[in-house]
Amino acid sequence: MDIHEYQAKEILARFGVPIPRGGLAYSPEQASYRCAEIGGSAWVVKAQVHTGGRGAAGGVRLCHSERAVHDAASSMFGRRLITRQSAPQGKLIYRVYVEEATDIARELYFAVVLDRRIERVCIITSAQGGVEIEDLVSTKPEALLRTTIDPAAGFLEFQAREIAFALDLHPEQIAEASQIFRRSYRAFRDLDATMLEINPLAVTSKGSIVALDAKMSFDDNALFRHRDISELRDRSQEDARESHAADRGLAYVGLDGDIGCMINGAGLAMATMDMIKAAGGKPANFLDIGGGASPQRVLKAFRAVLQDTNVKAILINIFAGVNRCDWVAEGIVAAFKEIDVKVPVVVRLAGTHVEQGQQILGASGLPIITADTLAEAAHQAVAAVGAST
Ligand code: GDP
Ligand code: MN
Repeated sequence: MDIHEYQAKEILARFGVPIPRGGLAYSPEQASYRCAEIGGSAWVVKAQVHTGGRGAAGGVRLCHSERAVHDAASSMFGRRLITRQSAPQGKLIYRVYVEEATDIARELYFAVVLDRRIERVCIITSAQGGVEIEDLVSTKPEALLRTTIDPAAGFLEFQAREIAFALDLHPEQIAEASQIFRRSYRAFRDLDATMLEINPLAVTSKGSIVALDAKMSFDDNALFRHRDISELRDRSQEDARESHAADRGLAYVGLDGDIGCMINGAGLAMATMDMIKAAGGKPANFLDIGGGASPQRVLKAFRAVLQDTNVKAILINIFAGVNRCDWVAEGIVAAFKEIDVKVPVVVRLAGTHVEQGQQILGASGLPIITADTLAEAAHQAVAAVGAST
């Protein structure tokens, strides 16, 4: 789960990381009121959307009057911000964050990420932070420093100091910087985050260090033990198909193809998606209905798949062990009764109670295309899409 910049900053501040003064606004008027509250003579208006690259897309504006803050906010509200990191349709702006402007001397990069290859948390830092960091990864990888954290020892003081030295900080800034690094890491670890990025971590003209931008993602499977974090979820920023499915306890990932998939088991789902590709088609989603799926669950899965208007055919592939083919078949028949299923449906059943399942489908008289093998099912789904377009 992702959160907004202002939420990530509040979390960092709670862990003792310095952030600029700021306030949230839901309207241009509220944005201009924030100026007096914050004080000073220059402010930055920042679109709160779950995507990076806002600066280059007009989502971060430096303003020198309350009027300018009002107008900058007004130009953002209701717009979809499309950045080079966002999906093509962009993200809706309905809140902005107003912050006192910082006089930046240097922009550093600091991130805590999971390196799945080495199964360790890594700290990535660079003396050349700011909006061009992504280019740096390919053009100048040596400008990025990686520090691996030993899970038993944690992020050690000497490692933090080494990073601070590598970032060319002044001797009097070393202690402050290492403290910021370790506090940020603590926020990441204590809250079961999967990613924390501070870019830029700014050195101000007065020599202090502040988190000017912050991004955080959390492990969905650990949210149950962080109620306060799970309350930060903002559905307006999520893929509507995925939040619909998540609400119903389905493991669903939206993709950009046109064959809707309903499969039991993640491994079989992956294999099925490969088969669809091999047959010349493109899956619209990954959906694992799980083990012991009841007819009601199958019905819910149908609704989730059909939420996606790109879906031109549905492929149901069930290899029943703990599942029962007859229950799945009942769910399919119920779905046809309750939902107006306009697209062709290809079903391949195997395993527990397969005869009963096939019998239920056969007796229903519904226009269901059945297949005996996965390869056959994939070819039929691809052919069905071809026939309907
Ligand atoms: P992002 O583009 O979504 O990563 O948004 P950021 O919050 O990182 O802002 C983009 C860029 O705007 C930063 O790298 C800074 O160069 C600039 N910026 C952000 N806040 C301030 C500020 O308070 N003062 C100044 N001078 N520049 C800022
Ligand atoms: Mn940034």
